[in-house]
Amino acid sequence: MIFRQLFDSVSSTYTYLLADSSSGEAVLVDTVFEHHLRDRALLDELGLALVAVLDTHCHADHVTGAWLMQQATGCRYGVSRRYGPALACADLPLDHGDRIPFGKHSLTVRATPGHTDGCLTFVTDDHTMAFTGDTLLIRGAGRCDFQQGNARMLYRSITEQIFTLPENCLIYPGHDYSGRTVSTVAEERAHNPRIGGQATERDFVGFMENLALPHPKLIAHAVPANLACGRPADGQVPVLATWGPVRQTYAGLLEIEPDWVAQHLAGIFVLDVREREELQSPLGAIPGARHVPLDELRGRVEEIPRDKPVIAVCHAGMRSGQATVILRAAGFSEVANLRGGMLLWSALGLPVERA
Ligand code: FE
Repeated sequence: MIFRQLFDSVSSTYTYLLADSSSGEAVLVDTVFEHHLRDRALLDELGLALVAVLDTHCHADHVTGAWLMQQATGCRYGVSRRYGPALACADLPLDHGDRIPFGKHSLTVRATPGHTDGCLTFVTDDHTMAFTGDTLLIRGAGRCDFQQGNARMLYRSITEQIFTLPENCLIYPGHDYSGRTVSTVAEERAHNPRIGGQATERDFVGFMENLALPHPKLIAHAVPANLACGRPADGQVPVLATWGPVRQTYAGLLEIEPDWVAQHLAGIFVLDVREREELQSPLGAIPGARHVPLDELRGRVEEIPRDKPVIAVCHAGMRSGQATVILRAAGFSEVANLRGGMLLWSALGLPVERA
């Protein structure tokens, strides 16, 4: 199984990618709206097909990326049926005991209300991993003072649905504010300061009812947005550029396909950043490309026009990626790296000129 833990530093949210390595079928748990393009880049680069995007609950601290993923990939959106018609945009309403298959793996749904009344925990079929959302955090538990929160219910959810999993089952929480990434059932049962050790329901409820936390800053924005599955007001999936099909790699670089570049040479500026002697190589150069070696680029940015998109190219697409970083830092907004460089360009049989 493929497994990745992704992080949003603004809300300290973890997003989890799970996939079956043979079929490529994948699920995403707790996506963050602002990381839509990052998550899609990772799916693309790993060659995965998203079958479902899931939320452990209706979040109050960030907006889900679920609607964007549904639009972009055609996947289904699963969240608790408890939210009812308010979350009609979710086409995979989930109940306790439901299974969400992806390839030869699956996640099983456990209803774990208490932080909100629709909180779910997703458990892998082999009971080695549990995605607990805000129900059980590492050395903590989700607050119960808004969104139908109920500390007594949370106590029962954790003790009956999570602490009954195998001792070595890994606990992957919805957030961690200190950078801790994973725990286990045994560890939390022993050391969780709210519900571990010998804590009774009364101990837990007493603790939770006296947290006196500040009201979440984003709740007034996040909850209504999440009840709309994270559909933006304009109903548009964000695009990186209007001038061409630019994509963002998981490394964060802006990239464009050679075929598109070959068809649009007249309206763009091709910047070749290879060393001078490389221009003599059998790979040749893209017709009309302007040559500025990468190590001279910072001092010669005035030579690059700002009235058309700039496509950077080099031998294999690495140095030109750095060229796009330099150009963006210099204020160029319409910039992309030619994917695969001259190696891919030539392999595709696209036109070249030779010195
Ligand atoms: Fe929450």
